[in-house]
Amino acid sequence: MCGIVGYIGHRNAIPIVIEGIKRLEYRGYDSSGVAVIGSENTLGLFRRQGKVIELERSLPAPSKSAGNVAIAHTRWATHGEPSERNAHPHTNCEKTLAVAHNGIIENFKALRDRLEAEGCVFASETDTEVLPHLIGFFRQKGLDLTEAVRETLQLVDGTYGIAVVDTEQPDRIVAARKGSPLILGIGDDEFFVTSDVSAIIIHTKKVIYLEDREIVTVRRDGFEISTLDNISVEGKVSIVEWDVSSIDKGPYKHFMLKEIFEQPESVANAFRGRIADSLSTARLGGLGLPPQELRRIKQIQIIACGTSWHAGLIGSYIIEDIARVPVRVEYAGEYRYRNPIIPEDTLVLVISQSGETADTLAALREARARGVRVLGLTNVVGSTIARETDGGVYIHAGAEIGVASTKAFTSQVTVLTLLAVLLGRMRHLSPLEGAEILNELKHIPDKIQTILDMNVEIRAIAASMVDDRNALYLGRGVHYPVALEGALKLKEISYIHAEGYPAAEMKHGPIALIDKEMPVVAIAMRDALYDKIVSNLQEVKARHGRLITIVDGLDDQIEALSDHTLCIPATLPTLQPLLSVIPLQLLAYHVADLRNMNVDQPRNLAKSVTVE
Ligand code: GLU
Repeated sequence: MCGIVGYIGHRNAIPIVIEGIKRLEYRGYDSSGVAVIGSENTLGLFRRQGKVIELERSLPAPSKSAGNVAIAHTRWATHGEPSERNAHPHTNCEKTLAVAHNGIIENFKALRDRLEAEGCVFASETDTEVLPHLIGFFRQKGLDLTEAVRETLQLVDGTYGIAVVDTEQPDRIVAARKGSPLILGIGDDEFFVTSDVSAIIIHTKKVIYLEDREIVTVRRDGFEISTLDNISVEGKVSIVEWDVSSIDKGPYKHFMLKEIFEQPESVANAFRGRIADSLSTARLGGLGLPPQELRRIKQIQIIACGTSWHAGLIGSYIIEDIARVPVRVEYAGEYRYRNPIIPEDTLVLVISQSGETADTLAALREARARGVRVLGLTNVVGSTIARETDGGVYIHAGAEIGVASTKAFTSQVTVLTLLAVLLGRMRHLSPLEGAEILNELKHIPDKIQTILDMNVEIRAIAASMVDDRNALYLGRGVHYPVALEGALKLKEISYIHAEGYPAAEMKHGPIALIDKEMPVVAIAMRDALYDKIVSNLQEVKARHGRLITIVDGLDDQIEALSDHTLCIPATLPTLQPLLSVIPLQLLAYHVADLRNMNVDQPRNLAKSVTVE
């Protein structure tokens, strides 16, 4: 779930792996630890509950913890409370070897019972701890570390990314994966293993993304990859495109703020090179589908979780409107267990920023098992979803470190808009209409900038919400999912309870909540539904709700009704979500910051949810 960083080379390993797991702090975790093979081939093991800085403080002087081989871990507890004894790495009884693990060993109970019956004493409540004991058991039988790991993993059900060190074979790290990411970084006479490239890109951009059921044995002078069935594998070297600057905060107080401010560029990156002006359509080569097949699509099912699900819902409005293709948007966690109906000529599209979301991955596998073509929309090149789909589009948003997704969301919506135009142009959308949308899309980055320039104004509005306990977000049509996303942002990082509603639904229930304590954030664009939403706002005001309105043009009515109004640039209705969501992101950010919350690492949340 969280992070693994391992190093083998000629440098002092601990500072490198500690710095690496610090880069993964954004993913959310509750404890951390490191295991190092010391100069006398002893195992140094240091673990702490809480932040990596606590772990760092607890480390002995460098001379006492020096060693060129180490693995470090940040844990997001699934089995056993967050505590020092449950923190990884875990060891076998003899403390000769140590394992860091991301994921869940589903059959750990049966394995633990068997091991305990044979006299094994467990030191933690984790599912993980069966791994070092089993590996130790096979090592005692004379197997070398790689073989012992292979035998162990044959017995295990569940998901794992693991890194293992052994004092009796101190010249290597053995790592493996199934269902959790694991990457080998190739440096000059040194190697890294990690669950997330952002931990190592300051050292190397040359990587191999391990596949599920692959094991790598890494020594100082080289590595070998094989499958769990002991078939040797070549391993394809990729070069990470992310810029090193993307993993630093720069002048910003938080990554989230930096990422909100990056959106003029990230949105442009999402459409750059994908607009075919001469044909007034979009070019999405990665889909790998010939036009004839794209034309044949009769239905689309979009599957995602969280913010990506909101992007998908916006996509459904746009695709249905422009391309007249019916779209269903499903939560991945529901889809995978629901025996979904997938009619002929259905295109399944999965959306995941990280490309590792466990529920989305399972839904994708379910759809593929039924013989359906599945496309993916992800940000992380080489991620599991990117590799397991039949084709797809990278959103090219760059590393997104803030747990609350912002720039990935607008990039997803941008790509979905391109897809809508592409499908539309094969159906009812005229060249003129296609050109109108695509030309306006090119202006969106500047218009986002205009909104970002209202940052100070938005912080002032945020100040009025700092002490609130609830908030309601309203929008109609394509702004309904924007309202959902605005509410999600607020609850994720400020812990204020917030709900998004289609404005017309308010009178069917939530209106009961409205009084002077309730801030209502409403998106009221001057589109076909403007008069309707103004009526909804009247209903809020009549009950003394506090109104914050996002509009694309001021008029007396709205001004008279609203406690605060924010006027953002106008654009085509199809493209409005790309603008209307920006003030909501900034609002959530400032409310959380003014409440002194840990914006980039909100409690209980993880950046990529790789467990069910
Ligand atoms: N399931 C393991 C535990 O609870 C690993 C959690 C993780 O991926 O961080 O210790």
